[in-house]
Amino acid sequence: MRDLEGKISLVTGASRGIGRATALALAARGARVALGGRDEEALAETAHRIGEAGGEARVVPLDVTSEAAAGRAVKNVLESWGSIDHLVNNAGITRDGLLLRARAEDWQAVIDTNLGGTLRVTRAVLRSMLKARAGRIVNVSSVIGEMGNSGQTVYGASKAGIIGFTKSLAREVASRSITVNCVAPGFVDTEMTQGMPHEARNALLRDIPLGRVGTASEVADGICFLLSDAASYITGAVLRINGGLLM
Ligand code: NAP
Repeated sequence: MRDLEGKISLVTGASRGIGRATALALAARGARVALGGRDEEALAETAHRIGEAGGEARVVPLDVTSEAAAGRAVKNVLESWGSIDHLVNNAGITRDGLLLRARAEDWQAVIDTNLGGTLRVTRAVLRSMLKARAGRIVNVSSVIGEMGNSGQTVYGASKAGIIGFTKSLAREVASRSITVNCVAPGFVDTEMTQGMPHEARNALLRDIPLGRVGTASEVADGICFLLSDAASYITGAVLRINGGLLM
C-alpha cells in the first residue's frame, strides 16, 4: 500500500526500536522520512534500510532535550523538503526504580526527554502545520501512563503527561485541520525492555490476554493508521496497542 505517497514525515528516535520500525513502515507506504535522533550512525543504518527497500529518508541530528536542536532539525527538513505533514514524537527513555531512591538527575532526564521532548519538537513543527492548515501528530505514550506500574512513577508521569498534552493540543489546533493523537503501547520487544529480569517478564506475560509481547512493527502499524487518511476524523484519541493488558 503506497497511500502516503508525497507525504513528509519526521520521526524522533528513529535509530532503533519503535521509531525505526515506524520510519520503515512510513517509507514503505510512500512517505519521505526524516530520521531524528542522537546516534547518527544508527540513523544512517535506518536510512540505508529504507533506501534498500526503494524509499527515501534523510538523517536529521536531533536531541529532543534541546530547544535549539529541535528548531534546527525542523528547519533542516523544511528547507530540504518544503513541509512536514507528519510528526511522530517517539523518542523516550526509562530510568526505573522506586521513587524514594530516584536521583534528581534521573527523573529530570525522563521528564525532559519524554514529555519535554514531545512539547519541544511539536512547538518547532507546529507553525508550519498551522500555516499549511494540515498536519498529523502522533505521540508515543505508554500503557504505564494509563495504568501505572510500581518502579515507574516518573516514567508513568511523563507518559500520562503526553496523553494530557495530546488531548489539549488536539482541541487547540482542530480548527486548522491538524489532528493530534497518541498510541499507548504495552510491552513491546525492543532494547528498552530487553534488559528486564526474566521473572518480571514472565509475570507480565501472564497478564497479557494475547499471551505474548508486541513487536515494534505492530506499534508502527498503529502509528501509520493514525497518520493515514483512514484516521481523518480521529483526534485526541489514545490508541492502545497492548495485547489486551489494559482494556
Ligand atoms: P528504544 O529502543 O530504547 O529507542 C528509544 C529511541 O529514543 C532511540 O532511538 C533513542 O535514540 C531515542 N532517544 C532517546 N533519547 C533521545 C533524545 N534525547 N533525543 C533524541 N532521541 C532520543 O525504545 P523503544 O522501545 O523503541 O521506545 C520508543 C518509544 O516507545 C519511547 O517513547 C518509549 O517510552 C515508548 N514505549 C515503549 C514500550 C516498550 O515496551 N518498548 C512500551 C510503551 C511505550 P538515541 O540513539 O539517540 O538514544
